[in-house]
Amino acid sequence: MERKKDGTLGMPCQICGAPATRFQFAMAICDKLECENEAFEQRGGPGGHKRAKVASSEICDQ
Ligand SMILES: [Zn+2]
Repeated sequence: MERKKDGTLGMPCQICGAPATRFQFAMAICDKLECENEAFEQRGGPGGHKRAKVASSEICDQ
């Protein structure tokens, strides 16, 4: 992802619509902590992206 000169990603925050500055939890978000938290929740909360890994590792153990 190429950053714009002003530090934004050239796309809106997927939570509040402000210029996004980073990707967190597979979403483009701005600098606000509340947006990071919202993206975190929408991503599935703690371990949301880890469950697949856990499931596959359980299969490997058998
Ligand atoms: Zn935002």
